[in-house]
Amino acid sequence: MDCERVGDEALQADKLDVLYGEADVEARARLDAHLLVCAACREEMAGLRGLRRDLRAWRVPTARPAFTPRGVVLPRWLAAAAVLLVGFTAARRPTRRPRRRR
Ligand SMILES: [Zn+2]
Repeated sequence: MDCERVGDEALQADKLDVLYGEADVEARARLDAHLLVCAACREEMAGLRGLRRDLRAWRVPTARPAFTPRGVVLPRWLAAAAVLLVGFTAARRPTRRPRRRR
């Protein structure tokens, strides 16, 4: 079931004003009158109110700090990779050949 006034910009503005708590008495009354006869808009408003409630309750998880007072904290895999790289480089380093005498 779709709203017959889906293109009515004034109605859509009233919805947003009510949703954000910025509607005056007239806007709220216009929307309430429409919601009495329009199930699609009642459902839409209920969904949007639920979404706003969920967003208010949502908390961003605190990220682990990349730096501590003692210095940079490296992930273990990065530290292990650095050790392997240093070891591999040292193992491949060519040995010095004695210089030829002229
Ligand atoms: Zn409607």
